[in-house]
Amino acid sequence: MSRVRFETTIAGSLPKPAWLAEPEKLWPQWRIAGDALREAQSDAIRVALFEQERAGIDVVTDGEQSRRHFVHGFAGALEGVDVAKIGRRGIRGDRYEADCPTIVGPVHRRRAVHADEIRFARAATGRHLKVTLPGPMTIVDTLVDEYYGSREKAAFAFAHALRYEIEELVALGVDAVQIDEPAFNVYFDDVEAWGIAALDACIEGAGCETAVHVCYGYGVPANVAWKRSLGEQWDQYAFLFPLLAQSAVDGVSFEFAGSRVPERVLGLLGEKTAILGVIDVATSDVETAQDVCATIAVARRHLPDDRIACSTNCGLAPMPREIAYAKLRALGAGAAAARADV
Ligand code: ZN
Repeated sequence: MSRVRFETTIAGSLPKPAWLAEPEKLWPQWRIAGDALREAQSDAIRVALFEQERAGIDVVTDGEQSRRHFVHGFAGALEGVDVAKIGRRGIRGDRYEADCPTIVGPVHRRRAVHADEIRFARAATGRHLKVTLPGPMTIVDTLVDEYYGSREKAAFAFAHALRYEIEELVALGVDAVQIDEPAFNVYFDDVEAWGIAALDACIEGAGCETAVHVCYGYGVPANVAWKRSLGEQWDQYAFLFPLLAQSAVDGVSFEFAGSRVPERVLGLLGEKTAILGVIDVATSDVETAQDVCATIAVARRHLPDDRIACSTNCGLAPMPREIAYAKLRALGAGAAAARADV
């Protein structure tokens, strides 16, 4: 349940400054290395927090400024995953090909992966802080497996590692955790068979607010083409939401703005908080506060106000910085306008 009506957050990532990493890339190279890199990442977290606070975002993230890629940042730090052994494979149901690290042995989390940047972010903001982590199914779908021979077995190994990562980050003062599972929108049979159970295994006893993010991906060309192929009405959520309603998560973060997601799916989330995507990440056109307010109004036709929170459709990482920041401000202003409208 939201603390304020139409509580705002972001899906997770923000663009990295050009002095830190190659701009407008999903998987950029760092510009610098060593201690200078760590200092620059911390400075980039400061900028990410500042822009979210300035925009009036209630639950902020570190903008994922210390990770090159949202999956490999976590999975690549685990024992059993060899980041130097790269295999090219089709991911997300062969929607696109990617260079993926390889699972070469039993997965084991030897140390906290994201503790340093979360400790820094915690000290740098007084707002509620959310950490985003890739979900087990999405991790498995973004690696080459040479060890487990079963997506399910591998997924539960990563769920175990995530469970302990979350415990450590909550102890550092994280208020909310979001598990990113874009793969849920592709492998429906697996979601039903073991995906929800693996998700729940990550967050069991988490001691903080929990959410799952299921989207139609970043606004990159392969995704835009895929979306065009999905027809006039996107029915994926109609299948998924009743399953997610049975999970242990508190909220479900999903794409809605500028999409062909039919509004009837908003009624399929059971008692979960709907973390509504009110900002389209597939266009550089910046929404107005009125646009955001109008999207919230659609959700209000199906859900009570205290079960509506607002977010971006997906991460903003590949966008030009100034457009991403302007979209943050539209998100904050639109939610404020909706609150004023009783
Ligand atoms: Zn997403």
